[in-house]
Amino acid sequence: MSDPIERDFSKRPPEEQEAFLTQTWCNNCMQMDLGMKDPKEYELNGTVLIEGKCKKCGETIVTEIADEDTDGEWEDEKE
Ligand SMILES: [Zn+2]
Repeated sequence: MSDPIERDFSKRPPEEQEAFLTQTWCNNCMQMDLGMKDPKEYELNGTVLIEGKCKKCGETIVTEIADEDTDGEWEDEKE
Protein backbone atom coordinates (compact mmCIF):
# COMPACT_ATOMS: atom_id res chain seq x y z
CA MET A 1 0.00 0.00 0.00
CA SER A 2 1.19 3.47 -0.79
CA ASP A 3 -0.13 6.97 -0.41
CA PRO A 4 -2.49 8.34 -3.04
CA ILE A 5 -0.83 10.41 -5.75
CA GLU A 6 -2.84 13.46 -6.66
CA ARG A 7 -3.66 14.05 -10.31
CA ASP A 8 -5.25 16.99 -12.03
CA PHE A 9 -8.77 16.15 -13.11
CA SER A 10 -9.16 19.52 -14.79
CA LYS A 11 -6.46 18.57 -17.30
CA ARG A 12 -8.72 15.96 -18.85
CA PRO A 13 -10.58 16.93 -22.02
CA PRO A 14 -13.91 18.62 -21.24
CA GLU A 15 -15.95 15.81 -22.76
CA GLU A 16 -14.15 13.28 -20.56
CA GLN A 17 -14.73 15.39 -17.48
CA GLU A 18 -18.36 15.65 -18.43
CA ALA A 19 -18.63 11.90 -18.85
CA PHE A 20 -17.04 11.17 -15.49
CA LEU A 21 -19.26 13.70 -13.78
CA THR A 22 -22.46 12.33 -15.23
CA GLN A 23 -21.84 8.58 -15.54
CA THR A 24 -21.83 7.63 -11.91
CA TRP A 25 -23.07 4.99 -9.55
CA CYS A 26 -24.15 5.98 -6.07
CA ASN A 27 -24.11 3.18 -3.49
CA ASN A 28 -26.25 5.22 -1.18
CA CYS A 29 -29.00 6.10 -3.66
CA MET A 30 -28.57 2.76 -5.49
CA GLN A 31 -28.96 4.64 -8.72
CA MET A 32 -26.73 5.31 -11.65
CA ASP A 33 -26.03 8.54 -13.49
CA LEU A 34 -27.14 10.88 -10.75
CA GLY A 35 -23.99 12.86 -11.34
CA MET A 36 -21.24 13.99 -9.01
CA LYS A 37 -19.68 17.24 -7.96
CA ASP A 38 -16.36 18.32 -6.44
CA PRO A 39 -14.31 15.81 -8.43
CA LYS A 40 -10.84 14.90 -7.29
CA GLU A 41 -8.56 12.62 -9.20
CA TYR A 42 -5.81 10.52 -7.70
CA GLU A 43 -3.85 7.38 -8.21
CA LEU A 44 -3.62 4.65 -5.62
CA ASN A 45 -1.55 1.51 -6.08
CA GLY A 46 -1.54 1.92 -9.85
CA THR A 47 -5.27 2.52 -10.14
CA VAL A 48 -6.65 5.90 -11.13
CA LEU A 49 -9.67 6.97 -9.17
CA ILE A 50 -12.03 9.88 -9.41
CA GLU A 51 -13.75 10.80 -6.21
CA GLY A 52 -16.66 13.15 -5.93
CA LYS A 53 -19.93 13.69 -4.15
CA CYS A 54 -23.31 12.44 -5.30
CA LYS A 55 -25.36 15.35 -6.57
CA LYS A 56 -28.45 13.91 -5.00
CA CYS A 57 -27.41 12.79 -1.52
CA GLY A 58 -23.88 14.16 -1.10
CA GLU A 59 -22.32 10.78 -0.37
CA THR A 60 -18.82 10.19 -1.65
CA ILE A 61 -18.64 8.37 -4.96
CA VAL A 62 -15.46 6.79 -6.22
CA THR A 63 -15.12 5.90 -9.88
CA GLU A 64 -12.29 3.62 -10.86
CA ILE A 65 -10.67 4.21 -14.21
CA ALA A 66 -9.44 1.10 -15.92
CA ASP A 67 -6.52 1.01 -18.31
CA GLU A 68 -5.16 4.48 -17.91
CA ASP A 69 -2.25 3.29 -20.03
CA THR A 70 -4.38 3.25 -23.17
CA ASP A 71 -3.76 6.95 -23.45
CA GLY A 72 -7.08 8.38 -22.51
CA GLU A 73 -9.06 6.05 -24.67
CA TRP A 74 -12.16 5.25 -22.77
CA GLU A 75 -15.18 3.20 -23.64
CA ASP A 76 -18.51 2.78 -21.97
CA GLU A 77 -19.11 -0.20 -19.73
CA LYS A 78 -16.17 -2.23 -20.92
CA GLU A 79 -15.30 -4.58 -18.10
ZN1 LIG B 1 -26.51 9.46 -3.86
